[in-house]
Amino acid sequence: MFPTLIKFRDYGQQAIEAAKYIGQGFAVTLDHLNRLPITIQYPYEKIVSSERFRGRIHFEFDKCIACEVCVRVCPINLPVVDWKLIKSIRKKQLKSYSTDFGVCIFRGNCVEYCPTNCLSMTEEYELSSYDRHELNYDQMASGRLPLSISQDFSIQTISASYLSKRAMGRHSDNQTITRSAN
Ligand code: SF4
Ligand code: SF4
Repeated sequence: MFPTLIKFRDYGQQAIEAAKYIGQGFAVTLDHLNRLPITIQYPYEKIVSSERFRGRIHFEFDKCIACEVCVRVCPINLPVVDWKLIKSIRKKQLKSYSTDFGVCIFRGNCVEYCPTNCLSMTEEYELSSYDRHELNYDQMASGRLPLSISQDFSIQTISASYLSKRAMGRHSDNQTITRSAN
C-alpha cells in the first residue's frame, strides 16, 4: 500500500510539472501572437532607405575632370578612370569611367573627396545579378538616375523606423506603412 501511495505522489508531481511547462509554452506563443513580424514580403514590400543610405553610386560624366582622386582615396583603388591628354589646352579629357559594384564596399571615400561632386550615393540597394561582371558599371550605367521605390505603385513601401519598432515589439502606436500612392 505504501509504495502505491509514493507512486501516486510522484505521478501527481510529474503531472503538475508537465502542466507548468505547457503553460509556459502557451505564454510564449501568446506573447508572440501580440507581435508583428519583422520580416517583409520582398519584393512585394520594400524598405525605404534612410536619408544617408549608402547605395549605388551615381556618376555625372560631364562634371568629371579625370583627376583620379577617387581612385587614390579608394581603399581598393576601384574606380577605373580612362583619359587622354589634350596637349593643345593641356587638359585631361575623360574617355571612360567605371566602378565594379560587385567589389565596392560603399564606404563613400570617393564621393566624399571628389573635387567636383560628380559622385553621389543613391538609395538604390538592389544590385543582385546572376553574372558578377554585370555589376561593373560604366559611365552610362552609373550615370542612370536611381529608381525610386516610392514611385513604384506595384509595391508597398515600409519605413526603416517602422521595421525597427516592430523588432523592438513597439508596434502599436502608429501605422507608418505607406502605400506608394500616398
Ligand atoms: S574624383 Fe571625381 S572628378 Fe576626379 S576622377 Fe574621380 S569622379 Fe572624376
Ligand atoms: S565607395 Fe569606397 S570602395 Fe566603393 S569606389 Fe568609392 S571609395 Fe572605392
